[in-house]
Amino acid sequence: MKISNRRGFFKYMALLGLVTFSATPLFAKAPKDKVQYQEEPNKGEKCSTCQHFVSKTNECRLVKGTISAEAWCNLYAIDPKLK
Ligand code: SF4
Repeated sequence: MKISNRRGFFKYMALLGLVTFSATPLFAKAPKDKVQYQEEPNKGEKCSTCQHFVSKTNECRLVKGTISAEAWCNLYAIDPKLK
């Protein structure tokens, strides 16, 4: 991209900001040890019924790492479709 004048410079900076913003996650996932993650369900609550669980990849939208469907953490929130 050729920057030939002041307007071009500001357009370039705006584009650079958009590219940088879109490549940066809005928040980082929490480590398991900070959310009391455990491999067992807790009082009937487990990842497979949590709205943050991604069953296709065994991941969580909020917690780092591989997540077991039978696990639990203190960010648990029941999937509204199951209420
Ligand atoms: S937020 Fe916690 S309980 Fe819910 S899926 Fe993620 S790890 Fe499991």
